[in-house]
Amino acid sequence: MKQLTATLQARDAAIRDLPPWEQIIRGTLIQYHRTCGNRGCRCYQGPRYRHGPYWYLAVRWARGRQKLYAVPKPLVPEVRRGVAAYKKLWGGAYRIAEINLNILKRREGVA
Ligand SMILES: [Zn+2]
Repeated sequence: MKQLTATLQARDAAIRDLPPWEQIIRGTLIQYHRTCGNRGCRCYQGPRYRHGPYWYLAVRWARGRQKLYAVPKPLVPEVRRGVAAYKKLWGGAYRIAEINLNILKRREGVA
């Protein structure tokens, strides 16, 4: 009984630790540095002279399709947080499902 209380408390803690749904963003935040259309520009002298960074959110869809969304620099922290929240949500769901399984295993007839 004492052990069940600890398990329920662990589950409550895991639920409380879930990120807010409003933050969730799926995808990968990536940055590019790139050359421009002007062949005489400094950006052609090497990678460190390229323009940027330009930020994109890469989102994969079914059948390996991927779309890149340009992300303005001021929104990068918000998108980064959202992507982290998405990962945290899945980690939390995994943890809670594990705890729920442990609770289920205590029930009569579950073997
Ligand atoms: Zn350039």
